[in-house]
Amino acid sequence: MDKIIKKVIGTIFLLLSIYIFVYLKYKDTSFILVYHRISDYQGGLKSLYVKPETFQKQMNFLYLRGYRSVSLSELKEHLEKNLSIKKIFCITFDDGYEDLLNSYNILKKYNFKATVYVHVKAIKDGYHSYPYMSAAKMISFNQLKNILDIFEVGSHTLFHSDLSQLSQQNLSFELSESKKILEKELNTKINHFCYPFGKVPKNYKEVLVNEKYQTATTLKHGLIYRNKNLDFYLLPRIEWKEIKNMSFKDFIKNFDFYLKILFAV
Ligand SMILES: [Zn+2]
Repeated sequence: MDKIIKKVIGTIFLLLSIYIFVYLKYKDTSFILVYHRISDYQGGLKSLYVKPETFQKQMNFLYLRGYRSVSLSELKEHLEKNLSIKKIFCITFDDGYEDLLNSYNILKKYNFKATVYVHVKAIKDGYHSYPYMSAAKMISFNQLKNILDIFEVGSHTLFHSDLSQLSQQNLSFELSESKKILEKELNTKINHFCYPFGKVPKNYKEVLVNEKYQTATTLKHGLIYRNKNLDFYLLPRIEWKEIKNMSFKDFIKNFDFYLKILFAV
């Protein structure tokens, strides 16, 4: 009997120690999730797909742990005013596929906000084929207009170019023209940007400030730490993949995120 009591006390002590460690390490952090396709597999790179059922489970998990998703503008405001970012996070979708609409009712159910970064030329064409991705149907401007109650729209450039390889002139054009078209078509301010392929040009800050963007997200992994000289133009994100599409490396990379949400810190 003594042995059992000792084991129970030992386990409680261990869990409490882990919780305190996780709490102290992650209490001042938030996170930005990145998704591409919310759909059953349609061809191309499998890891870019999250099934609508899985997305629903992920959102439910976060909701039950007390998290609420806010727009990028709201997260930025919290960080700038040094307000608590505990239990708030952002959801982002890259490119602007039509299957983004599969997330709408799920987000609405939890009163979650999200951001979609639009590849403008692709949505003008209706379809687009990316490297590792078979031709995909893109969302239309009209469909985007109907989801602005939940979604903030950001630019993902006009041509989805590797910005690190462009001339200064073409780089400015990608940023300014995409913003101009989106603002005109959607009649809304475009304040946020996302680098295609996660490729960041050398003078990123200068051009983004010039074109009046407030934030930019990368494909670099990481949580958002408050008070850590955060660069709003190099925001890291978390890719929460389907378990069956997750490699061991992906699991290890996301371990800080899993610890944080498991302990609801
Ligand atoms: Zn992209």
